[in-house]
Amino acid sequence: MQKTRYAAAAVAAVAALTLSACGGGDSAESEGGESGGEMVRIGIKFDQPGLGYDEGGTYSGFDVDVAKYVANELGFGEDQIEFVEAPSANRENLLSNNQVDMIFATYSITDTRKETVDFGGPYFVAGQDLLVPTDSDITGPEDLEGKNLCSVTGSTSAQKIKDQYPGVQLVEQPGYAECVTAMGGGQIDAVTTDDIILAGLAAQEANAGKFKVVGNTFSEENYGVGLPKGSTERCEEVNAAITKMIEDGAWEEAITSNTEGADYEFNADLNPPTPAPCA
Ligand code: GLU
Repeated sequence: MQKTRYAAAAVAAVAALTLSACGGGDSAESEGGESGGEMVRIGIKFDQPGLGYDEGGTYSGFDVDVAKYVANELGFGEDQIEFVEAPSANRENLLSNNQVDMIFATYSITDTRKETVDFGGPYFVAGQDLLVPTDSDITGPEDLEGKNLCSVTGSTSAQKIKDQYPGVQLVEQPGYAECVTAMGGGQIDAVTTDDIILAGLAAQEANAGKFKVVGNTFSEENYGVGLPKGSTERCEEVNAAITKMIEDGAWEEAITSNTEGADYEFNADLNPPTPAPCA
């Protein structure tokens, strides 16, 4: 009798511990922040000016603005957001391993990625393009046969080249900024990824006058909000927030202010997109 009662108490104690560790919910958010409230961990790029950029602990860009808006609609103030770097090749793992709650990182919605993660959105449509030295006569991927092209591991940009342009010498780097640096050094003939990313890098002060975006897109990249697999409810909330952001003018303001000074105009036939139904 005594033994049984002890066992029941132990079970209750473990249950209480489990509850406090999880905050009583099924989400991965944890306690913390200046206000002491629940935190949300959001994956962004740290090295893509105009999209996701780390300016020494403060973060800027269109992805950051959309992330803040959506987080706010979900009940998280700015001081409840922890931004985590999400390089292209790590995004699925960060979500699957529960290291982030959401990803806003120029993250294209694809069927392959949907096998391991869920997506809210899309909230933007970009297109794959090329960045080349200002005096280059490369006008599209057909001109790259035998040339050195740089892109990023784990991106749809690198995958497209492997699938459709096998004669190109593809060099892979962890980030696009590294590709642009290599092109500045003369080892690379062109860099490929989404037009909006290339325009932001070309507009950086250090790159002024050196490179041009070719302006001949050869894909459609639908930027989604990466979520752990099985997040249908959160996906609906994210989509409602994106729709609200588009309707109240904040989306337009965010895309305009974050591309200001870059030689970039979004495709007005495809933007702003309508979020797709959740799984
Ligand atoms: N949007 C593409 C992708 O998701 C290229 C940009 C990136 O690597 O983030 O792979």
